[in-house]
Amino acid sequence: MTARRITSGLAGAPDHVDVVVIGLGITGVGVALDAATRGLSVLAVDPHDLAFGTSRWSSKLVHGGLRYLAQGQLGIAHESAVERGILMEVTAPHLTHAMPMLLPLTPGVTGVQAGFARAGMRAGDVLRRAARTDRETLPRPRRVSATEALQLAPGLRRDGLRGGLLSWDGQLEDDARLVTTVARTAADAGADVRTRARVLSATETEVRLRDELTDATSTVTATGVVNATGVWAGDLVDEVTLRPSRGTHLVLRGSTLPGLEVAVFAPVPGEANRYVFVLPQPDRTIYVGLTDEPVDGAVPDVPQPTEPEIGFLLDVVSATFAKDLRRSDVAGAYAGLRPLLDTGGGATADLSRRHAVLTSRSGVVTIVGGKLTTYRRMAEDALDGVLARTPIDAGPCRTRSLPLSGAASRAQLSRLELPARLVRRYGADAELVLASAREITRLGDDELLRPVADHVPATLAELIFGVTHEGAADVDDLLDRRTRIGLIPADRDLARPVAERAFALVAERV
Ligand SMILES: Cc1cc2nc3c(=O)[nH]c(=O)nc-3n(C[C@H](O)[C@H](O)[C@H](O)COP(=O)(O)OP(=O)(O)OC[C@H]3O[C@@H](n4cnc5c(N)ncnc54)[C@H](O)[C@@H]3O)c2cc1C
Repeated sequence: MTARRITSGLAGAPDHVDVVVIGLGITGVGVALDAATRGLSVLAVDPHDLAFGTSRWSSKLVHGGLRYLAQGQLGIAHESAVERGILMEVTAPHLTHAMPMLLPLTPGVTGVQAGFARAGMRAGDVLRRAARTDRETLPRPRRVSATEALQLAPGLRRDGLRGGLLSWDGQLEDDARLVTTVARTAADAGADVRTRARVLSATETEVRLRDELTDATSTVTATGVVNATGVWAGDLVDEVTLRPSRGTHLVLRGSTLPGLEVAVFAPVPGEANRYVFVLPQPDRTIYVGLTDEPVDGAVPDVPQPTEPEIGFLLDVVSATFAKDLRRSDVAGAYAGLRPLLDTGGGATADLSRRHAVLTSRSGVVTIVGGKLTTYRRMAEDALDGVLARTPIDAGPCRTRSLPLSGAASRAQLSRLELPARLVRRYGADAELVLASAREITRLGDDELLRPVADHVPATLAELIFGVTHEGAADVDDLLDRRTRIGLIPADRDLARPVAERAFALVAERV
């Protein structure tokens, strides 16, 4: 078994490191990985858990940056497409796959709108080529007939359907799984990753911390400090102001829109270029999103969707699909806050989504904005920002060609003779997940690989691995972040006893 380096609390933490990373969302774990693989000593902390913040509330897409192209932001569009290609082809083929996306040409979509959409999809393909992403990875967009559109999305309204435009983008297996995998890769590279550890204050060379398990406070000295706390970034440094915007998604059971094989862009009635995404997930649920609502006031730990947002999403999807969706079809709902930098004025939808590296007067380097897709580049830029200020002797950035834990080529992954779900979520480490669960529990594969409950495909083997290798400290960590069972509250209740059992089984052996 590998060393367990993702731990909770601060017992035994170092009192000096090269770099302290504050926050264990995708940005923070990305910085921890970048720093550790440049040969630096790293302490990376979060008061809650891996992926506790915005990083688990996304649409789980690996975007090619088309929307930026539409806004004339060529640089960021290209950067997104490049990073998408790196994730899908080099660093995380196991956690990503191509997602077909259909814009149905319904009576609500005018010829002009369809023309714009088609031009956009062609431009997206040019972006893919410019980023040198293979056509095998992301096929070319094309027009499909009404018959084919209905094969791909049988629930669409048939009246007046003229066909559809089919394009491709990347989809993540799960956002929190990406964060966990990057964290594990960073820990394997030597980073000390600690959950339940809050930064109370920070300067360039000193961080005051509180162990959230014991309430004990301590000080760690460092050569550089990176603030990767997303929407909370302004709490630690004065110079950063954010204007968070809430994005809400619904979670539907797969049976609500049976046979859906592609993501569907459902046009928002009355708006020329706005769509709601209907996104089938690998676990057979469907997400519907998303909204964009400015948020004022204190930033909550866990943002909540509002009823008007839920109603809006149901109405838009019902206008495109034959079935009238009702509130009772909503099995779960979640909301996340985009960490948008306040650049003064403007609606949140128009604020820059590019990341920024900002150095405060105290010397803390803040990395904020961006998205899951571009986390690697954000981390590289943040570390370069630290190294430009300090005399630390570090190697060059290595993450562009560094596979994450479990990564293998798609061909290699397809040859693994292991349960498909484990391969999707752990790649070549699926073997390790099963072997360590066998070793810890002495249970048979029937029990370790049985779905936790009806409609809940997660297994005891995964939950045990969450405890032994991924730093899960309690049942919430397992249900809400190592797996995403908690996105549907009814499933969460069913799975709780199995998660408790996973902890008990590990405790018996330790
Ligand atoms: C609705 C929505 C949909 C999105 N969809 C996509 C998508 O499909 N694809 C994509 O690429 N991007 C998407 N994004 C963007 C992406 O999710 C975010 O840009 C990204 O997750 C931000 O990650 P982060 O690590 O910067 O912040 P977070 O994930 O919020 O992490 C910050 C962490 O800092 C911790 N923290 C706070 N205070 C302290 C402290 N004092 N001490 C220590 N730690 C602290 C928090 O607990 C938290 O875990 C979406 C965003 C939203 C809101």
